[in-house]
Amino acid sequence: MHDVIVIGGGLAGLTSAMACAQYGLNTIVISRRIGGSINETPIVETLPGIRPIFGPDLAKKLQEECKSAGVEFRESEISEIRSGFTLYNIADHANEKHKAKAIIIATGRSPQMLEIAGEEEFLGKGITTNPISDLETLQNNSVAVYGSGERAGLTALWLSSMCQKVHLICPKPRLHVTPLTNERIQKTLRIETHLNSAVKKISGSINLESVATEKAQMNVSGLVLCERGRPHLSFLKVNMQISDGIAVDSAMKTSAKGIFACGNVLSGEEVLAPETVMQAWQAAESAYKFVRGK
Ligand SMILES: Cc1cc2nc3c(=O)[nH]c(=O)nc-3n(C[C@H](O)[C@H](O)[C@H](O)COP(=O)(O)OP(=O)(O)OC[C@H]3O[C@@H](n4cnc5c(N)ncnc54)[C@H](O)[C@@H]3O)c2cc1C
Repeated sequence: MHDVIVIGGGLAGLTSAMACAQYGLNTIVISRRIGGSINETPIVETLPGIRPIFGPDLAKKLQEECKSAGVEFRESEISEIRSGFTLYNIADHANEKHKAKAIIIATGRSPQMLEIAGEEEFLGKGITTNPISDLETLQNNSVAVYGSGERAGLTALWLSSMCQKVHLICPKPRLHVTPLTNERIQKTLRIETHLNSAVKKISGSINLESVATEKAQMNVSGLVLCERGRPHLSFLKVNMQISDGIAVDSAMKTSAKGIFACGNVLSGEEVLAPETVMQAWQAAESAYKFVRGK
């Protein structure tokens, strides 16, 4: 049995696990994939005191720090959380059972899919959610990035240094990025922004060749999906207040006793890395107070 099980090993989960270990809690991270979406983030440059860092390097560094603080890891998918009398019971897809006094949910979200004809056919043949693993298809070509947030803006900027042209297709009337990111996008001649635009059609013979919105047709070899999708919550068999994500109070407590949450799985707007770190630390502190009865 563990004091705390952290479900999800992205930036939120790894940070809260490290904080739990520093509070002296016996902690395990169970995650489908350690590193989560930072493995798909080209450059993280918003963390104070850390120079811009390649996302997968940050994931590796965080996992190493967690391990040296005593955190255990298991790469597995949780299929169920149920509440027992005083403990939570967790099962994974391999049907292994785990028990904990408290749980921190940090399972993030999937990128939003376009849900238009041809999308599945071109997945991995130009359409991608991971620009790092599919860089070969994108590099030196014209590409499109679909999304409205910081993730889309920074991905477009990163690709603009190695692609002929980047079409930034934003489904909202304006980009929801920091003023600095916005200024850099405006100044980058290779980025063309298409506001208030939805991808209506994708076509190609074997690989993706073009993308069309209501107003424009673009010849591109790649389309990177960066819009925030649904939270990963199908495993929750516990009564909990949920809207477009898990609802928490300022101490990161959910409406279920002993369950805390942080990161992109929360309801509300997408948060950047620094806020994720703050939430994760707060979730760990609340879990500590709960487990130790403080
Ligand atoms: C692609 C991308 C780029 C970004 N770029 C920047 C940036 O440049 N600067 C910045 O400040 N912020 C950036 N952000 C935002 C910042 O990184 C987020 O704060 C951070 O990604 C929060 O992620 P998370 O840990 O909540 O979720 P995730 O990173 O999505 O991690 C969730 C983890 O949970 C696992 N999981 C899901 N369901 C289960 C289950 N049932 N059982 C077990 N495991 C499960 C997943 O496999 C994954 O490993 C970016 C975000 C994304 C997604």
